[in-house]
Amino acid sequence: MTDDGDVDRTADDRAAETERRAIEQRLASGLPFRPRTARDFEESYAGTPPWDIGRPQPGFVELAGAGAVRGRVLDSGCGTGEHTLMAASIGCDATGIDLAVSAIDQARAKAREREVGARFLVHDALDAASLGEQFDTALDSGLFHVFGDDDRVRYVDALRRVLVPGGQVLLMCFSDRQPGDWGPRRVSQDELRASFSGGWQVESIDAAEFDVNLEPGRARAWRAVITRI
Ligand code: SAH
Repeated sequence: MTDDGDVDRTADDRAAETERRAIEQRLASGLPFRPRTARDFEESYAGTPPWDIGRPQPGFVELAGAGAVRGRVLDSGCGTGEHTLMAASIGCDATGIDLAVSAIDQARAKAREREVGARFLVHDALDAASLGEQFDTALDSGLFHVFGDDDRVRYVDALRRVLVPGGQVLLMCFSDRQPGDWGPRRVSQDELRASFSGGWQVESIDAAEFDVNLEPGRARAWRAVITRI
């Protein structure tokens, strides 16, 4: 034991402390701990949820810079629309869908304010096929990790139906390397590969980070690029 306990703290202790503070902040905000249902998400958007950072995630900005965001773009679980707007601003024909009406309202308001032509629809990503449209790129920033096992299967099937052959899914989800259990379900690389097995080619899975509005400002993620065969 030293006089100054802080000096001796291990990285694990510090991670646990950060986690505790994040949970407190989350509870104080009155937002659901791990939103899953449309109603949970609707409540989240009454405030500013941790993921709603007012700009696209750096991991997607980088992919866009590399030319991976192209053609007709579907942003599944678009929230308040930052990735849809990013796609539209580089000339893509961009559509964002989300179950939360308040998120879509905010996304439409941003598109008007920024004078960016993007389409936003209240629509279930599990039922994306009922849009009756085809896309070249599907963006997923933080939706895949919301789903339980059964819905994962439905979701990946929906993506397969709406993407043209050669089209790509660009996806970021919470990583199993993120400590603690605050926030969304953790996803392993193996789970990603298993979900996108038949009919897909996994091009890359990189360690990435989500920028978030809670301390310490970042969470570990996997960023995957997957081609529909
Ligand atoms: N992509 C956004 C939001 C991520 S949070 C961003 O990066 O900021 C996950 C989003 O998925 C929420 O906006 C939630 O309302 C939405 N969502 C959850 N289930 C959905 C479903 N079945 N279909 C469409 N959107 C869904």
